[in-house]
Amino acid sequence: MKNLVILGAGTSGTMMANHLISKLPKREWNITIVDQFKTHYYQPGFLFLPFDIYTTKQVKKKGEKFIPKGVNYIQKKIELIKPDENKVQLEGDAQLDYDILIVATGTKIAPSEIEGMDGPMWYKNIFDFYTYEGAKALRNKLREWEGGKLVVHITEMPIKCPVAPLEFAFLADSFFKNKSMRDKVDITYVTPLGGAFTKPKATEALHHLLEEKGIKEVTDFNIERVDYENNKIVDYADTEVEYDLLVTVPTNMGDELIERSGMGDDLNYVPTNKATLQTNDYENIFAIGDATNLPASKAGSVAHFEAEILTDNILRYIKGEPLKAEFDGHANCFIETGNGKALLIDFNYTHEPVEGTFPFPGVGPLKLLKESRMNHMGKMAFRWIYWNMLIKGIHIPFVSTNMTTKGKKLEKINN
Ligand SMILES: Cc1cc2nc3c(=O)[nH]c(=O)nc-3n(C[C@H](O)[C@H](O)[C@H](O)COP(=O)(O)OP(=O)(O)OC[C@H]3O[C@@H](n4cnc5c(N)ncnc54)[C@H](O)[C@@H]3O)c2cc1C
Repeated sequence: MKNLVILGAGTSGTMMANHLISKLPKREWNITIVDQFKTHYYQPGFLFLPFDIYTTKQVKKKGEKFIPKGVNYIQKKIELIKPDENKVQLEGDAQLDYDILIVATGTKIAPSEIEGMDGPMWYKNIFDFYTYEGAKALRNKLREWEGGKLVVHITEMPIKCPVAPLEFAFLADSFFKNKSMRDKVDITYVTPLGGAFTKPKATEALHHLLEEKGIKEVTDFNIERVDYENNKIVDYADTEVEYDLLVTVPTNMGDELIERSGMGDDLNYVPTNKATLQTNDYENIFAIGDATNLPASKAGSVAHFEAEILTDNILRYIKGEPLKAEFDGHANCFIETGNGKALLIDFNYTHEPVEGTFPFPGVGPLKLLKESRMNHMGKMAFRWIYWNMLIKGIHIPFVSTNMTTKGKKLEKINN
């Protein structure tokens, strides 16, 4: 028997277990998946939890519900990968041998990277919403907050779901309007980028939305420390932004396991071939999702497209065939803009988000880079799709693995 081991049972790992169980001959292959947590979190729901739009029950379920029969599911912390011995060390003395390894350990916040961030005011007037605990604590705070200066802040790039902090600012605007207290809240969006987003066309559209909603923008802000005694964030150029409530996205980093195993870059991401998903240093180790160093968005939709290509490549690797170099960085993300509307962006390594229609050229029904109620409905439907299709490895109709240029106003790129 040969062993295929998947590290991490989040979005990517769970999808890979579901894809591979039906593809690998059971008499020849054992599949094992390992995760430290019993709970599977729907992380996109962490955006809605602070505003009481989703309940805690809607964003978490038992992980075992989604691991297919026939896959060995181990709930333990992974201590070390020994790539030269083809072994993985788990907490305690357990050790796993592998013939093929898939690293799907994701990325997580590291607030201790910034002085003062997770000090005595952490979860008092400084919050994240990238963890279940953070989103829930922030929900409790927002329920009773009486207003003041709200600062929505990104520490450094890359972060998972790079549009989520913008969505947070937009939703905060409508949340306080609905509570008839928008006039008591001053919202500022603080980013290390030169604009609201990483891609020019989308940056322009998002900048207009921020302006329209009266949300101030502070760009090129490279945070040095949080002065929690005086309620301000300070950057390396000594620029200061005052807050009463700071909602920050701390530095995102791969798990320390990657560092301990000597397999990561300086943010603990695994150097990975951006088209095949094979790791650069080990031919029998593949990586997927947020754990990689790929120049694609760290998003569930990206992991979904990667999983389809990685499944093919694992089968090709086993047969000794050349790998498909076909992953194009495809990302498809709804951006909630508040008041029951959202934008949709669809892009890849070489094409930035532009206007157009999706998934049917000229028909839609979804509009790219334009606010609509239909896009908002798509965003809300994503939770059902996530639990019932995406992590079960079921193909989502009409959404192709590689980005299509049909229906997109690509000429605008060169303007
Ligand atoms: C607020 C927010 C909003 C988002 N919105 C969207 C959205 O609208 N659309 C979208 O497509 N994506 C969105 N995302 C991003 C999406 O959730 C992630 O990109 C996706 O979950 C990545 O999947 P992954 O499997 O690579 O990592 P994860 O799902 O994070 O899974 C990694 C797993 O590895 C396990 N693990 C790590 N280290 C160890 C260890 N040492 N031992 C044992 N287990 C370990 C973890 O416990 C975890 O279960 C959002 C994320 C956040 C935080």
